[in-house]
Amino acid sequence: MSKRVAFLGLGHMGGPMAANLVRAGYEVLAYDPVPAAQEQARTDGARVVDTAKQAAAEADCVITMLPNGRVVLDVYDEVLPAAKPGTLFIDCSTIDVADAKTASERAVAAGHRALDAPVSGGVAGAAAGTLTFMVGGEAADFADGLPLLEVMGGKVVHCGGAGVGQAAKICNNMLLGISMIGLSEAIVLGEKLGLTHEKFFDVVSTASGQSWALTSYCPVPGPVPTSPANNDYRPGFATALMNKDLGLAANALAANGVDGQIGLLAAAIYDRFNQDEAGKDFSAIVTDIRKRSGGENTRA
Ligand code: NAD
Repeated sequence: MSKRVAFLGLGHMGGPMAANLVRAGYEVLAYDPVPAAQEQARTDGARVVDTAKQAAAEADCVITMLPNGRVVLDVYDEVLPAAKPGTLFIDCSTIDVADAKTASERAVAAGHRALDAPVSGGVAGAAAGTLTFMVGGEAADFADGLPLLEVMGGKVVHCGGAGVGQAAKICNNMLLGISMIGLSEAIVLGEKLGLTHEKFFDVVSTASGQSWALTSYCPVPGPVPTSPANNDYRPGFATALMNKDLGLAANALAANGVDGQIGLLAAAIYDRFNQDEAGKDFSAIVTDIRKRSGGENTRA
C-alpha cells in the first residue's frame, strides 16, 4: 500500500487520527465541510482538498470517521465511483452493523475493498495513537490496512467478516452501559443502607460483583482518583455517545431476534438521562439514580 491516504471527517476523533498519519509519514488528503476542521488539518500537515471525491480519487486508502451510518453511506455513494479500482475503504465511525455491511457491499460492488474498524479509547486515545480498533472484513484486506491502523492505535483486533468489528464495539458498549447502571443501583442501595463508598469499593472490588466500571471507572468520587466522578463528571465518555451506542445495540438486538431485555432497558435509561445530561460522563447515571431515589442518605 502506498503512503497516500484520504481522510474524510476531521472532527474530535478524525482530526487527531489524521494528524498521527501525517506524523508517521503518510500523505493525507483531508476533507471535512467545517472550515475550523480544515484549518486544523492544514496546521497538522495534511493536504486539505475541496471535496471528498477529490480526496478519494487520488488515494490508495480512504478512511472515514463520520457521525453516523446515514452520512457514511452518503459519502460512500459519492466517492466510490471516483476511487481507483481496488481502493481500500476503512470506516472507523461507530454505526449500525446493518449499515456497516451495506457500506462494505457497496464498496465491493464498485470494485473496491472494505473494512469496518470502529474504535474505543476516545479523544485522548485518538490524540495519543493508542485507540483499540475492532475490525471486520477479509483477512487479506485486514493485513493491508494493519500498518495504517497501528499508527493510530495501540491494539488492533481482526474480529471477523464485514460488520463484525461494529458487532464487537456495540456488544462491549452494551455490556458497559448495563454494568454501569447495575453498579450505580448497588452503590445507591448501599448508601441507603449505611454502606460508605470506601467500604463498598473495598468489598466489591475483590468480590463476585467486581467489574471494570467499578475498579477502573468508579462512578463516585474517591476510590479511583482518575475516574470522571472526581472531575464533576466531565467526560470521559459522554452520555450522548453511550446513548448512541445503546441505540445501535438495541437495533441489532431487534434485527437479530435476541431477547435482550436488560440491553433495551439500559438503552431506555440512558435515552432519558441523555435528554438533560448529554454532555456529562455516562458514569453520572449514578447521580440520576440517587436523585430518583430521594437523594443521598446522610449515613453513607
Ligand atoms: P465529530 O462530530 O466531532 O466529527 C465528525 C466530523 O465529520 C465532523 O467534523 C463533521 O463536519 C464531519 N462530516 C460530516 N459530514 C461529512 C461529510 N459528508 N464528509 C466529510 N466529513 C463530514 O464526531 P467524533 O467525536 O469525531 O466521532 C466520530 C465517530 O467516532 C462517531 O461515529 C462516533 O460515534 C465515533 N466515536 C467517537 C468517540 C469519541 O469519544 N468522540 C469514541 C469512539 C467512537
